[in-house]
Amino acid sequence: MADRSLRGMRLGAQSLQSEEGVVFSPRATYTYRCATCGRDTDMVFSAEAEAPEAWECKFCSHEATLMVGSEPVVIDHSDAKTPRSHWDMLLERRTRAELEELLEERLQYLRARRGTQKIGA
Ligand SMILES: [Zn+2]
Repeated sequence: MADRSLRGMRLGAQSLQSEEGVVFSPRATYTYRCATCGRDTDMVFSAEAEAPEAWECKFCSHEATLMVGSEPVVIDHSDAKTPRSHWDMLLERRTRAELEELLEERLQYLRARRGTQKIGA
């Protein structure tokens, strides 16, 4: 990491000679390794910006994972991308008390129907 920021500063210094008054923000290069094709995609971001943990592989367009040192970061998909269950969605629309009421209604209906079927049979 140290040599990368040094390289970035050197680039900035050279550019200042030809483009007066333009101050370049420091850049940092991040490597993303693709789990699908195993190749590395290098991306340059502003050193102040936080690099995303995943980037699109430039070779095969699958998800490539940010490398920190020689290891890919562990991406935690649990918070943002957890699919909601039907139960979660149900609870967003109705309270549990309402659901129990509906269930009770339904059970009574089924019991009544079973009763009539028995009588009919
Ligand atoms: Zn790839």
